[in-house]
Amino acid sequence: AQKLNQQPTIFSKIVDKKIPADIIFEDNQCVVFRDVNPQGPVHFLVVPRKPIPGLSDVQDGDELLLGHLLIVAKKMAEKEKLLDGYRLVINNGRHGAQSVHHLHIHVIGGRQMNWPPG
Ligand code: 5GP
Repeated sequence: AQKLNQQPTIFSKIVDKKIPADIIFEDNQCVVFRDVNPQGPVHFLVVPRKPIPGLSDVQDGDELLLGHLLIVAKKMAEKEKLLDGYRLVINNGRHGAQSVHHLHIHVIGGRQMNWPPG
């Protein structure tokens, strides 16, 4: 069986409107809101309503959801006028420095990024 969070995380509470966030888009599969500690002029998070703890917990059958999250990320980057590019990040697990265990895609832009990251 797929691992899903039983205890609500901070992101589940935002998705369920139990705590506030600066939500810039939502549909039946995901919610998009601004990161409270932005790492660039634009930094938002694309969060599935389904409480998958992390990318490690994704399974066959989540293809349509994952593809949808990427398309929403791209559309929102356009809406946020990130015409010179932007970066998507999924932190996973301890070495990935994941801090909130509800799957999310970071979209960061509005400044020059560097590679490799720290
Ligand atoms: P992670 O390291 O898990 O990929 O990143 C979690 C992100 O969530 C961090 O960038 C952090 O600033 C953001 N974050 C944590 N708590 C909250 C919150 O309550 N509201 C919002 N909008 N962002 C949060």
